[in-house]
Amino acid sequence: MRDRFGREVDYLRLSVTEGCNMRCIYCRPQAASAAFTHDVPSCRENCRIASAREPSCGNPSAERCIEIVEAAAQLGIRKVRITGGEPCVRTDLPEIARGIAAVPGIEEVCLTTNGTLIAPMAAALKAAGLARVNVSIDSLDQDRYREITRGGSLAAALEGLDALAAAGFEGTKVNCVLMPGINDDEVEGFGAFAAERGIGVRFIELMPIGPARELNPYQQPLPLSSLSPIAGKPAKGNRPQLQVIAPISAPFCSQCNRIRVTADEQAKPCLHSREELSLRGLSGDELVDALRAAILAKPAGHNLASGASESARDMSRIGG
Ligand code: SAM
Repeated sequence: MRDRFGREVDYLRLSVTEGCNMRCIYCRPQAASAAFTHDVPSCRENCRIASAREPSCGNPSAERCIEIVEAAAQLGIRKVRITGGEPCVRTDLPEIARGIAAVPGIEEVCLTTNGTLIAPMAAALKAAGLARVNVSIDSLDQDRYREITRGGSLAAALEGLDALAAAGFEGTKVNCVLMPGINDDEVEGFGAFAAERGIGVRFIELMPIGPARELNPYQQPLPLSSLSPIAGKPAKGNRPQLQVIAPISAPFCSQCNRIRVTADEQAKPCLHSREELSLRGLSGDELVDALRAAILAKPAGHNLASGASESARDMSRIGG
């Protein structure tokens, strides 16, 4: 359906958990979770990450995720991206993907992940009908990667990329959030990496949301001029595609076609607005109506150029 500004909204980003096995410096507060390891006892049967400090993940069940997508599909949602938190902390992720892919009207189901837990389920996700995967990797230097993720393993993320290729996934892209003074010297390295692996890399401008808001140097918008040699360069033949996503320097709100639903069942009309519409306890027409209201509540655009995000949540609690 169209929103108040005539934009066709056909894309849902659905967060299936707030839990994550990483605590990236710009994404999650340091104290978000004591557990880096994912083999702690599960708080719900479908979730491998939980700890004493994060006692209940409160994840929506697979059935609930599918019910929300069914309602969204009635409004013209055609594409769903599963996100989190880290979606792969859920062992029932293939079941969720299969159920969503089977919803009438849904044409494409994609996933955003850090890739470190995906290897054992890559084949099952492919069989479930997942179309494509974006893997977030902010550095190709393992020490730097560990620092940015506060303990993550670059080797595990690369193993995830290998597993996706082995499972037959095509069109895999790496998301790299470029941070001035942190990893912005890696553009060339990522270019070579993309060429070597035959995958795409998307350089993303750091947005002032969540912990990124507090980190002074990160509030500098990415100097797009430094990326001009690659910005917007289309893929040629089988050359890898390098893209720049710059929500602050080059906002694309006028073409925004998405809404978000968080893992605690709040529909978010805009990533950067405070507004949330609760879907909790709603089903049938009421659920459809609430999602319609979320689409109609989409603002014309965000105000990032004039300040930080108005969202009360960090990205891991929204679903990036
Ligand atoms: N755990 C998954 C992952 O790592 O891709 C999915 C969730 S994560 C919140 C989704 C994406 O949001 C990642 O690519 C992450 O780098 C990005 N992200 C988080 N905080 C951001 C920020 N302040 N600015 C730009 N991108 C951000």
